[in-house]
Amino acid sequence: MCYISGMLTFKKKNISIYLPFAVIILSLIALALYEAGIISIPSHRAQPLNKVSFENYIYPEEYNYAPNLLLVNKDYHISEDYPLDIVFYRETDVPMNAVITEDYGRMSDYIRNELGERLYVSSSYRSQEDQERIYNEEGPDIAAVPGESEHQTGLALDVYAMYFAGAAFPDCGVGQFVLNNCSQFGFIIRYPYGAEDITGFSYEPWHIRYVGYPHAQIISDSHLTLEEYLDSFEVGSWYSYDSYYIARLPEDELLIPEELSGYEVTVSPDNTGFAIVTINTDV
Ligand SMILES: [Zn+2]
Repeated sequence: MCYISGMLTFKKKNISIYLPFAVIILSLIALALYEAGIISIPSHRAQPLNKVSFENYIYPEEYNYAPNLLLVNKDYHISEDYPLDIVFYRETDVPMNAVITEDYGRMSDYIRNELGERLYVSSSYRSQEDQERIYNEEGPDIAAVPGESEHQTGLALDVYAMYFAGAAFPDCGVGQFVLNNCSQFGFIIRYPYGAEDITGFSYEPWHIRYVGYPHAQIISDSHLTLEEYLDSFEVGSWYSYDSYYIARLPEDELLIPEELSGYEVTVSPDNTGFAIVTINTDV
């Protein structure tokens, strides 16, 4: 018995000596396979919507138009003459898309009233000429190619807090609030950390993008990028989320379920030939 337990003790010691090395070697192998794209970390990027089906479909008699889901990136450019309603935010000279001013104001007021802090905008709507000038001044590493910047939609804002701008924005209370709560006001962090291969941009915690409710909440809760969110819809299918029904439809075939025709219908072209149709049954 003594001999056996001695053997066991000896073996345990051996394992404990080699274990750290084994862990390091296995980690290095896993890292090499991950870098080579042979294995992938399971992603939690799942579409959280439930697919629903209806019997009959009709063209809506009337609907609201809201350009809150325009996709602008290296693949989908915004044309210089895209019809946009650009207005000045409140009493300022800050130009924004008219669709975002109310919700941006709500977020700004909340930060002022509840946190006692201020949120500032360093860049908002840019015309094609503005983007060309910035691109020529700052170069391709910093500025987007004219036509590929979503600032040209008026739906994106670069925000900052006093003493905390750019990459330092998340280091303050206002930055943390915006990162964690902007979805409640219809905004998303458009270029999240680690999504450069999808968005074409590295992490920009200061660049918030309006997509409206409930889309911002869904995108944020499921850790999607705007690209992935739009891709997650099967064109022509309807999905439910809370009191909302949502579909991605061809722009020239905006058929809605007949039984939802009495509710508020919002049509949001996504700049890829499709439109997201959102029906809110809670109004
Ligand atoms: Zn920006």
